[in-house]
Amino acid sequence: MAKKQKTCNFCGRSEEEVSLMLTGMNGMICSDCVLNAYQYLEEYLSPETLGKTKKKKNQNDVKLDKVPKPKEIKDYLDQYIIGQDSAKRVLSVAVYNHYKRLAQLPDEKTEKDNDVEIEKSNIIMVGSTGTGKTLLARTIARLLDVPFTIVDATVFTEAGYVGEDVESILSRLLQVADFNVERAQRGIVFIDEIDKIARKSDNPSITRDVSGEGVQQSLLKLLEGSIVNVPPKGGRKHPDQDYIHVDTKNILFICGGAFDGIEKKIAQRLNTHTVGYDSVQNAKKIDAEDLMRYVVPQDLKSFGLIPEIIGRLPVLTYLNPLDRNALARILTEPKNSIVKQYVKLFELDGVKLTFAQETLDYIVDKAVEYKLGARGLRSIVETIMTEAMFEVPSSKKKEYVVTKDYAQKQLENELN
Ligand code: ADP
Repeated sequence: MAKKQKTCNFCGRSEEEVSLMLTGMNGMICSDCVLNAYQYLEEYLSPETLGKTKKKKNQNDVKLDKVPKPKEIKDYLDQYIIGQDSAKRVLSVAVYNHYKRLAQLPDEKTEKDNDVEIEKSNIIMVGSTGTGKTLLARTIARLLDVPFTIVDATVFTEAGYVGEDVESILSRLLQVADFNVERAQRGIVFIDEIDKIARKSDNPSITRDVSGEGVQQSLLKLLEGSIVNVPPKGGRKHPDQDYIHVDTKNILFICGGAFDGIEKKIAQRLNTHTVGYDSVQNAKKIDAEDLMRYVVPQDLKSFGLIPEIIGRLPVLTYLNPLDRNALARILTEPKNSIVKQYVKLFELDGVKLTFAQETLDYIVDKAVEYKLGARGLRSIVETIMTEAMFEVPSSKKKEYVVTKDYAQKQLENELN
């Protein structure tokens, strides 16, 4: 009898056509079909159910010795972000602890069940726009090589209203994790403009606060760790769409907001606390120019965040407004500073680009004047350099110096 050819019972391909053929009692399956089936399971089973079949492997692949120590995280941040020392320290520790927590998660329910369970510490950063909140979160995510996504809290509305559901945050995280649910479940989400969903309690005419408290309530579900049904393609939920189940328990949420006017709340609180003899002495130590550093959770509550949300964001830190000196440093010092980026761009055309010191001073002066924080620097430099970037590649120049006169002319042209 001729030897029977081995073929996959699922796709019908022969042993020669596939990398591996697995033989069962009554049939065969090729490695490609196994992979397909696994991806299918990942999509349709909850992480728990999948975890039971998968046992230990995935959960504990966070090895603490691979996670940089807080000092190393801060050193890395220092290369890209100017100042903001306090926020850098707080974030380095919080992120390190987060991964410590992941590394010590018991593989199975039975093991280490009596151990102290370290709770997740999501983070909230308070600081005016353009002071580096997003940059901090992004830089940390790059260092740790985890899926990272930025979402803007202002696009969310309560379920049932026009706008995005908060679940779409997880769709984006899944997308950047190439739909690897396990990876997404250990990612970092940066929620920007969290202050914009503060409750507007001083507006009595609104019976339902569509953009405020309702959104905070739905966000709460994500922050506190739950299994969320995520529509794979993002957008709104649809009855006949298949969902991916994402557990948010180990996702690190970093929230950021400008909280415009929170200084007033801080000042009010400090004043009420500084009545009396003892506090008069303390009051002297308070730097009125730099009230943000005294921010405490209570101030976020006065601003309109609900206590439950604040409770889920236990690590609170602040970013300083950037002064002239900081802006000047930002222009040239970070590893990928704006100036370094332009020098590189010109270098690719074989041109040595330099900015005269007085040009740099002029750029900083303008950024201070526009009050756009560091964000203004980039747009100013962009405006100044457009003409040069247009002309220089076709010229025979080997060197190009950006003078103050040229910069001034370009900016003025743009404004007129
Ligand atoms: P925020 O999130 O606080 O509004 P971003 O982090 O988006 O501000 O900052 C906008 C841009 O300004 C960044 O891309 C970065 O180039 C620059 N920037 C802001 N703050 C800093 C800083 N402290 N150090 C270096 N660059 C900064």
